[in-house]
Amino acid sequence: MTGTVTPDNTKIEITNLKKQFGSNIVLRDINVKVDAGSVVALIGPSGSGKSTLLRCMNLLVIPNGGRIRIGHHTFVFDDGSKMPRAKDQAHFRSNTGMVFQHFNLFPHKTVLQNVMEGPLVVKRMPKAQAAQLARTLLGKVGLADKADTYPDRLSGGQKQRVAIARALAMEPEVMLFDEATSALDPELVAEVLGVMRDLAAEGMTMIIVTHEMAFAREVADKVIFLRDGVIVEEGPARELIDNPKQEATRAFLSHFH
Ligand code: ADP
Ligand code: MG
Repeated sequence: MTGTVTPDNTKIEITNLKKQFGSNIVLRDINVKVDAGSVVALIGPSGSGKSTLLRCMNLLVIPNGGRIRIGHHTFVFDDGSKMPRAKDQAHFRSNTGMVFQHFNLFPHKTVLQNVMEGPLVVKRMPKAQAAQLARTLLGKVGLADKADTYPDRLSGGQKQRVAIARALAMEPEVMLFDEATSALDPELVAEVLGVMRDLAAEGMTMIIVTHEMAFAREVADKVIFLRDGVIVEEGPARELIDNPKQEATRAFLSHFH
């Protein structure tokens, strides 16, 4: 891990990233730059490596090569068998808030306790301060009145908004969304996209894996189309979605009309 001075406005820089599971090469040579405060939508067919790329950024998956810089922290991966030091891992993880398709809230904890858990356990924040932070974040996702409710009493959309508040509670520099609305009933999708849109408007740096093309077109600054572990095409959201240059991108997008 090296502290580096960042001369530009790039918040995330992924360079020559490689990942394989056994003989299955999942990410071939990925290069991505994300400006601070911008939103990147990562699109592509099932199995193209979208989740693996996000998981590499959160060290849930350790790459086989390349480097990842987030803010002022850089990891260089030269061999998949070498794990970064525990302290560096913890820093990286808490700096990237991840929201999954399935929310994985603690069922035996209230909504407030779910959101407080990270700050309390990982950051050793005093309880009163963690509670205050959690209440602020629940207000932000429109769930101030659900603080004392248990997750099983919430709709899918409400659970996902709690999951977003929980990720934000670690005060990450970057938010990663992996198909955050894919498991939701259609009528619940908009409330979660609304929270994501608000976060983007506030200047959060975000990478979102999504099949919501209208949302990506509207909210993302840049869209990246990934197929078979390779970036086939990337560009400004509207340009890429309305007018893809590559045949493979066109074929993929035709499924969403
Ligand atoms: P996507 O999110 O675009 O659908 P994934 O990143 O989940 O794609 O998967 C890309 C490829 O990596 C698939 O072939 C998948 O089977 C494989 N893969 C993902 N995670 C693992 C894992 N933990 N072990 C082995 N293979 C995996
Ligand atoms: Mg996936």
